[in-house]
Amino acid sequence: MALCIYCSTTVLFGGITSDAGFFCSERCQQSQHLLQQSERVPYQKVQQKMLALHQGACPQCGGPGPVDVHRAYRVCSGLFVTKWNDIPLVCCRRCATKSQLGAIGYSLILGWWGLPWGIIVTPLQVWKNLKAICRGPRKNRPSLELEKLVRVGLATRKSTGAKAAPKPSGATQPRRAGTPVPNATAQGSTVASLNP
Ligand SMILES: [Zn+2]
Ligand SMILES: [Zn+2]
Repeated sequence: MALCIYCSTTVLFGGITSDAGFFCSERCQQSQHLLQQSERVPYQKVQQKMLALHQGACPQCGGPGPVDVHRAYRVCSGLFVTKWNDIPLVCCRRCATKSQLGAIGYSLILGWWGLPWGIIVTPLQVWKNLKAICRGPRKNRPSLELEKLVRVGLATRKSTGAKAAPKPSGATQPRRAGTPVPNATAQGSTVASLNP
């Protein structure tokens, strides 16, 4: 069991170990690399972007902010395979709560049906959602996670020279809940299987 140094997801099986540390996925490894590059982006520019995003309208419902990085936790199982992930959402608190309640329903319906991980992970994911609903990021200032996201976004733009915003990570896998976080921030995902 190891912790991804980029997204802090706990990985039971698999993952990537490199000189920089341990990662849950290739995407996290790339994001960490971009995060290091982002140190060259002027501090003021990061702050400016971050505050604009934090105090701007919610990208999901268009309502007032603050906008920050929230997380919804889901699990689904099928006999001996259990897959759980943590979905980053850039939105306002109301949208985040909706997605987290949705994730609780999803996990309670689909999470249990795997042995042994379904039974272990389902209550854990439900608990994490409840904790996220009650706590969440602070309202009065942007979270470190939002700063990381903005930094990586700016570094991506710098390295590709593109003017357009980074592609959402959910581009190839549509999500019902929440606004997908730009490319650079990973969606932690863990799969446990007892199959050989
Ligand atoms: Zn990760
Ligand atoms: Zn919203």
